[in-house]
Amino acid sequence: MNKLPRENFDPEQALLTGARRVFGEFGGVNQSIHPSTTFTTMDPEIMSSMFNGSLSQKGCHLYGRHFHPNNLQLGAQVAAMENTQAAYPVASGMAAISTVLNQILEPGSHIIASQDVYGGTYAYLNNVLRAKEIEVSFVDPCDLELIAAEVAENTKAIFVELMSNPLLKICDLEAISQIAGDDIQLIVDNTFCPLTFTPANLGADIVIYSGTKFLNGMSDFVSGIICCSSDFLTDLMDLQSGQLMLGGPVLDPKSCFQLQLYLQTLPTRIREHSYRSLVIAGELASKRSFKIIHPGLESSDEFAPAHRQCNKAFAMGGMMAIDLETYENARKFVMTLQDSGWAFNAVSLGYFHSLVSISGSSTSSEIDMETQAISNLSPGLVRVSVGFMGNIDRQIAGFEQALAAI
Ligand code: PLP
Repeated sequence: MNKLPRENFDPEQALLTGARRVFGEFGGVNQSIHPSTTFTTMDPEIMSSMFNGSLSQKGCHLYGRHFHPNNLQLGAQVAAMENTQAAYPVASGMAAISTVLNQILEPGSHIIASQDVYGGTYAYLNNVLRAKEIEVSFVDPCDLELIAAEVAENTKAIFVELMSNPLLKICDLEAISQIAGDDIQLIVDNTFCPLTFTPANLGADIVIYSGTKFLNGMSDFVSGIICCSSDFLTDLMDLQSGQLMLGGPVLDPKSCFQLQLYLQTLPTRIREHSYRSLVIAGELASKRSFKIIHPGLESSDEFAPAHRQCNKAFAMGGMMAIDLETYENARKFVMTLQDSGWAFNAVSLGYFHSLVSISGSSTSSEIDMETQAISNLSPGLVRVSVGFMGNIDRQIAGFEQALAAI
């Protein structure tokens, strides 16, 4: 599905030069916002030909739920960055996930899904899809033998987060793509680590983002992106059966414009997030009091698979986790950080300021306690999205102080 050879692929350069730059009205350096829900055609013949399939003929648009100039431009840039043929911005990460799953799965089909996924994704698979008589097998994403053993005749998809939420496990995507072969769609949620990994270069068929997180960086609106082949996008846009066309989750022009603007600073932001998260994780790990989870630490089991698959220039991104064993410990740590001003107790990630949350009782609370225990998700696990505001030495001291407060 990818367009350029994996060797020497540079997502930062692709973001800069991989899609045609569209200037704004009056030559503005930024593209204009196009707030129209419907577009005129000069001749009904053109309109009917667009309905017949060629939905976005050069310069022609039809209706804002299909394509509009701002979603085409943002989609082209994200596709270039992800090395996929196409990308389509939608209203949220969950809209991206549900749209893709509903397109691929039907009653009687089977999906193999990682048990280490965002709680909302877990609930969608476990409750919504199972209620539609879709079979779901939850697996440890790092257990390749188990994944292979689960493949059945009706298996249509494998779903993983390349860096999992909240345990930051790194699965071997190339090996999973070998198991998936040509007939099973490998769907990868890369929300935690844009630029660090390019899943399409590692065998993913479909790459999904919650655009709400690092792609945005400002935490000011919710969005999502589906990156895929041109053929799959055509299926999603089918007038009779396409989940994008008929589910209607298109992202509005103003949000597409805004996200495209924020995307231009993503490489710079990710480098700083990555640098700070690794330095802070290393300092806290040196205290040897609690388990610090960060794939960039040499002591981590994730170090080897992460480094084998990553784009080296971006290191491991801005996420880390600390297993403080009990909920009370986690609460003290979070409150000390919030009181000292070094983090907000808030869900989400990728913000310029640090965000901390106790996963088991918040963003993973949809996952039953037994599965949490099997995944080693303790009630004291604190997920940290490391921000880059303020002096780094003082930031390290702020985190050390919070750990010492336990
Ligand atoms: N995927 C991951 C890994 C997430 O962490 C989240 C939300 O936290 C989502 C998807 C859902 O994204 P959104 O909140 O934009 O719908």
